[in-house]
Amino acid sequence: MSTTLFIGLGRMGAPMATLHAQALATAVFDLSSEAVASVSEAGGATPVTDLKSIPGDVDTVILMLPSSRQVEETLSGEEGLLHRLGEGALIIDMSSSEPTSTRSLAQRAQEHGIDYVDAPVSGGVPKAKTGELSILVGGSAEAVERAMPHLEVMGSTIIHVGDEGAGDAAKAINNLVSASNIAVACEALTVAQNFGIDPAKMAEVLNSATGRSQASELKITKYILPHDFTSGFAYDLMLKDMTIARGLAESLETPVTATAFDKLSTGRAQLGDAPDHTEISRLYGLGQ
Ligand code: NAD
Repeated sequence: MSTTLFIGLGRMGAPMATLHAQALATAVFDLSSEAVASVSEAGGATPVTDLKSIPGDVDTVILMLPSSRQVEETLSGEEGLLHRLGEGALIIDMSSSEPTSTRSLAQRAQEHGIDYVDAPVSGGVPKAKTGELSILVGGSAEAVERAMPHLEVMGSTIIHVGDEGAGDAAKAINNLVSASNIAVACEALTVAQNFGIDPAKMAEVLNSATGRSQASELKITKYILPHDFTSGFAYDLMLKDMTIARGLAESLETPVTATAFDKLSTGRAQLGDAPDHTEISRLYGLGQ
């Protein structure tokens, strides 16, 4: 018998871990004991209340944490899982992490005889619930093959992008495009409104014409126009992903995404506590 330890049961991790537990033997941990209890009940997972006492047959660890900071804290140091998992274990980091941190952790994992795969996801909470996420994978062919039975439970599209860190880089670049698209769509509605066109009518135009995007079809229509900022993806997590992608673009000429990043990062202070990422629209006076 082997057990997978799933760490990080937030907006994304809870539904992902529930699906994982329904398919494969799973133990779950989060700093929130309520989250541990709720996922254990929903998915039939084994609750873990302290990472110092994990089940003895854990050979795979899946992480779905906010950022590389928490991933490093969990894996590194004397008490970290890199020291406590046995040789031959597998770590799958599904958080949207920093590619350079991932490369360094993968290197250290290898020194302990542990396989390491980065497998960040796209699709948000709705696709996490249905197991239809897009999963962007980085790692060696052998490690990715080992990870596949776990990933297939949670995703319907799985792309092996390249070596360790490549999944994280691709995820950050995708979110740079996604956030820039939301900003562009908001600007389009503002320009239309200034000319006297109802923003909802302009959204209808974008969605039936070549200006459409996932941002115009979903984010504008479902969250921004109704002023219902409940997408479940935090503004600060989006900004973290954009910061990672801008770091990758540092020496390149990329003025369009640089401007979008500048708008979102300088606008953050206007948005108060824990805004949803769709509140980008408030920077344009839409959705106030
Ligand atoms: P979240 O804030 O809802 O959940 C994070 C969870 O991690 C919380 O339950 C928190 O208690 C737990 N946690 C934090 N530090 C911990 C630690 N040291 N040990 C154990 N548990 C810890 O975040 P989320 O929205 O679920 O996002 C998770 C990751 O997925 C992020 O990297 C994010 O960028 C990415 N992501 C999110 C979405 C989305 O739509 N929310 C979509 C794609 C990718």
